[in-house]
Amino acid sequence: MARTRWKKPAHEVLRVPEGFRLESLDPTSTPGWKGGAKAAVQHMAKQGVALADLQERLYADGKAGGHRSVLLVLQGMDTAGKSGTVSHVIGLVDPQGVQYRGFGVPTPVELKHHFLWRIRRALPAPGYLGVFDRSHYEDVLVVRVHELVPEAIWSKRYDEINDFEAKVAAAGTVIVKVAFIITLDEQKRRLGARLKSAAKYWKYEPRDLDERALWPAYRDAYQAVFEKTSTEVAPWHIIPANRKWYSRMAVTELLLEAFESMELGWPPADFDVEAEKERLAGA
Ligand code: ADP
Repeated sequence: MARTRWKKPAHEVLRVPEGFRLESLDPTSTPGWKGGAKAAVQHMAKQGVALADLQERLYADGKAGGHRSVLLVLQGMDTAGKSGTVSHVIGLVDPQGVQYRGFGVPTPVELKHHFLWRIRRALPAPGYLGVFDRSHYEDVLVVRVHELVPEAIWSKRYDEINDFEAKVAAAGTVIVKVAFIITLDEQKRRLGARLKSAAKYWKYEPRDLDERALWPAYRDAYQAVFEKTSTEVAPWHIIPANRKWYSRMAVTELLLEAFESMELGWPPADFDVEAEKERLAGA
């Protein structure tokens, strides 16, 4: 696919670099993209067609006994764009091949288990595109910021997560991890918009303001995530997300590149095509 407006593959541009500092990122920037908003929207429509085709190939591969899948992990502060990405990006492909899962506060049953228990159960089956709207990373983000478990426990989780993701990848899942980064001002604007319209009240959570007050602690927790869990098999991608047209298009591009890396063909027929044509002609 021609990528005339991406200077380099998005996974190279957006992958968290060695020595990355979150405070050095400009969330209004649009790295790697040469066009503006209008061109991005047009590009996304084209990407959507290509993505839908590859996702259908993956689905067909799963039906034919293949073991591969894709897992998109979405993280970010409230209003950063996770759910908008689900509707606008994941909405480009056939929902029959998608396994979506949002992770909220663990239930009493989930709390009785290891933090990865609920995650394992939600992993995409072969042939599926899995989407985690929040994820096991909450167990080193909100849990760390609020000290929901002692440091002795959460500090070991980074290694546990790396081991877990390595096994998931080795079993045939391509993992695409995406973190949306917005400015504090942009979050204020987006929360304000939710208070202005009755159609958006349902999205407003008074407790989001309490989390907002903890922004610096979250920034440190995200910094640690990027430093400790961006691995060769499951690297983090940082998405400057003040501009939704960019963040959505960038995630689409990352997904597309992940699917392309799988070199998916169509499964061969497990029946005699010519014989079936003859049978059909006479049917
Ligand atoms: P969202 O805010 O993404 O629309 P929900 O309102 O369902 O979704 O729940 C998200 C909340 O659940 C967030 O405040 C998040 O920090 C919290 N959460 C998710 N995972 C955990 C966890 N493992 N421990 C504690 N809180 C969690």
